[in-house]
Amino acid sequence: MTAQIIDGKAIAKQCRKALKGRVKEFTEQYGHAPGLGVILVGDDPASAVYVRNKEKACEKVGINSFHRDLPATATQEQVAAIIDEMNADDRVHGILLQLPLPKGLDEQAMLARIHPDKDADGFHPINAGYLAVGKEGYVPCTPKGVMTLIESTGQSIEGAHAVVIGRSNIVGKPQAQLLLGKNATVTVCHSRTRNLPEVVAQGDIVVAAVGRPEMVKGDWIKEGAIVIDVGINRRDDGTLCGDVDYDAAAERAGWITPVPGGVGPMTIAMLLENTLEGAIRKAESR
Ligand code: NDP
Repeated sequence: MTAQIIDGKAIAKQCRKALKGRVKEFTEQYGHAPGLGVILVGDDPASAVYVRNKEKACEKVGINSFHRDLPATATQEQVAAIIDEMNADDRVHGILLQLPLPKGLDEQAMLARIHPDKDADGFHPINAGYLAVGKEGYVPCTPKGVMTLIESTGQSIEGAHAVVIGRSNIVGKPQAQLLLGKNATVTVCHSRTRNLPEVVAQGDIVVAAVGRPEMVKGDWIKEGAIVIDVGINRRDDGTLCGDVDYDAAAERAGWITPVPGGVGPMTIAMLLENTLEGAIRKAESR
């Protein structure tokens, strides 16, 4: 079998187009655009590129972005003060604190400082709790985008065996919750999992979110499986690859996402969607 490619770039483009229409409607109805507050601490070049891309994406769909930069030497109190300002700013409906923060800053404390109603990334413990109990709240962007990619195959998630490799708070755990919410039978793997190849081989759906280049081998994949590769890794020659050995896995999978051009573009589209949804919730609660 040769897998069908799940074109995340094209699907994200469709999402952004639909969002642009919804943002226009919102802006006309309420007299103001949705707004995303973006906080960048330090001078990590990759983070600066991510932030710029997110802001450009906002602009293209009509969402305002409000950017604040802090130096790598910023104290916890300085970061907290900016978050508090954005929490209080009515123009801001979602707040994005770009991670990782420079060493010495307490990431969890800063994420928990963001008001749960403005938690566009869905990392606040309250929103993680809502997801765990199946209540409406903000859902982290990457796993949310992965669900759209899986749904794009037209295959039923209900009753399927989904194997998630990785248990981080930002990808693996929320991914498992979302799949469970759609009635998949979910197995979560991590660095202590025994016989990983055998576990992965049971997956009708495999989501790899590890951060190890091409770790998931082609012969681990069940014939016809849906393979979603969240990993973004740089090979020694500077080129990008995922966590899955793409060429070999594509020989067995039914559907597979490429890296780049798979999950990455969806993450940004979902951030925009979360910001709009936050703005709608706020406007409707008035
Ligand atoms: P983390 O480092 O936080 O988590 C990695 C997970 O992989 C951990 O749960 C770890 O297990 C597990 N793991 C590590 N080694 C193995 C192994 N040998 N076998 C099985 N499991 C293993 O990473 P993230 O979740 O933040 O990100 C994962 C990848 O996804 C990265 O490449 C990242 O760049 C990418 N990413 C891509 C995004 C996108 O938009 N496309 C967005 C976010 C992330 P343990 O818990 O036991 O340590």
